[in-house]
Amino acid sequence: EQLWDPVAGFGVTFRTMFRKVVTEDYPTEKKPTAPRFHGRHQLNRWPDGLEKCVGCELCAWACPADAIYVEGASNTEDERYSPGERYGRVYQINYLRCILCGLCIEACPTRALTMTNEYELADTSREALIYEKSDLLAPLLPGMEQPPHPMRLGEDEGDYYRGSFSERYAAPEPGAAR
Ligand code: SF4
Ligand code: SF4
Repeated sequence: EQLWDPVAGFGVTFRTMFRKVVTEDYPTEKKPTAPRFHGRHQLNRWPDGLEKCVGCELCAWACPADAIYVEGASNTEDERYSPGERYGRVYQINYLRCILCGLCIEACPTRALTMTNEYELADTSREALIYEKSDLLAPLLPGMEQPPHPMRLGEDEGDYYRGSFSERYAAPEPGAAR
């Protein structure tokens, strides 16, 4: 009986060759993630390029894995990075610790912090997995200007929220068509 075992084994191999392939050809072909996938973070900007982060550290306090380090600093009239009183001077996320739970983005009061669909978070050194502010900041889009620069969307911080933020998320007037 043992003589026939290898033949039976090759029979399995032969039959399997004609079955539908279920594995994926990663990394040549990348499967799209779900739209609300929790991937790498991003620090967002206002349409004039100023940073939405006001250095409040709420994200760091909300993080159960102690993966975020923020150091805030004050904006001055000569050197302005965000429309707020403060901005995030140092901002780091340690992806050796992060469990991609999303609690930090829930805690952020300005929607400065969101998550992208990027999931390829692997590297060859521990240092490379500590992302700095420069790695996390959203790229400058056309019409945006690299901070520091004055507020271009209004006179004060409130104009930024009233202009773009509240318009988008405002509750409809009573009786207004929805
Ligand atoms: Fe911390 Fe979760 Fe945010 Fe990662 S996703 S930095 S673990 S709060
Ligand atoms: Fe505060 Fe949001 Fe900046 Fe974190 S990302 S420091 S919660 S403004």
